[in-house]
Amino acid sequence: TQDNSNPAPASGTTSQKKVHAQVADHYNARPDVGVEKRKESTIFRLKSFNNWLKSVLIGRYARPRDRVLDVGVGKGGDLLKWSKAKIQYFVGCDIASKSIEQARERYRTMRNAPFEARFHAMDCYSEPISNVVAPDVVFDMVSMQFCLHYSFETETKARMMLHNVTSQLKPGGVFIGTIPDAYWIVKKLKSESDDKLQIGNSIYSIRFERRDRFDKFGSKYWFHLEDAIDDCPEYLVHFPTFQKLAEEYGLELIYNKKFHQVYEEASQELDFNQLLYRMNVVSENGSLSADEWEAANVYLAFAFRKKN
Ligand code: SAM
Repeated sequence: TQDNSNPAPASGTTSQKKVHAQVADHYNARPDVGVEKRKESTIFRLKSFNNWLKSVLIGRYARPRDRVLDVGVGKGGDLLKWSKAKIQYFVGCDIASKSIEQARERYRTMRNAPFEARFHAMDCYSEPISNVVAPDVVFDMVSMQFCLHYSFETETKARMMLHNVTSQLKPGGVFIGTIPDAYWIVKKLKSESDDKLQIGNSIYSIRFERRDRFDKFGSKYWFHLEDAIDDCPEYLVHFPTFQKLAEEYGLELIYNKKFHQVYEEASQELDFNQLLYRMNVVSENGSLSADEWEAANVYLAFAFRKKN
């Protein structure tokens, strides 16, 4: 299903609009293109790499018959990965209602639905998950891919996010995710001349409104990723603050690596190495361009375990 009818509003025209509504509009407006169309994208290899990296994370931490909560599930792009991990039950939540419809449709058309799934449109950073998921449902895993940073708008939202991640996660359960690496971003910005507010290359740009102060919450920047994200407001996640807050919710950090590092390690393993080819990250025609490779390393991957 394609929908181009609701183009993403330019940032300048939406200053009156709350940021979470801008984010929802932004993702609702992105069409869900098919596999063939995706191959024409200028960042086809980068998208493939990000998908491969998520497969590595899922492959490392998911167990057969797991019950999984995906917060910020988007259009359900990871459903096949979860299917390969042989999970038993899946709940996907996202603020973008059109994306949720597309995720539901994607699940419906998956061949002989390998696991049971439910999808809910909700603001996971402002309302408790128990509004939509029965409180007696217990998850073995929670996944937040490329979406947690939106909750760092305020401490209240970050806390609601962590409440939702942990309240129905079993002791010993794992929480995995991917976020932009604030440390790397700020370091790169500071390596530029004093008056520059932007970093990036032909694939991505990260633009700040100021560079004299970076708070623990609400440190906004505008993110552009060619053919994927058109100048969307996002927030830096100060990792030590995130880790400290997560500890308050009973989460212990067990993994924290930049994407390049994940690649260097996982590509040494036969299965994940073969997956690089199967997922079109690498082929006889080439791999990621230098600019795509830099854009990949904007991100880091993490995993926490809920203490017993
Ligand atoms: N996890 C998916 C993936 O990896 O393909 C989607 C990632 S997309 C870059 C970020 C997602 O976060 C969007 O689908 C967006 O709607 C969702 N999101 C942002 N703020 C949210 C909120 N407050 N509650 C739930 N989802 C939110």
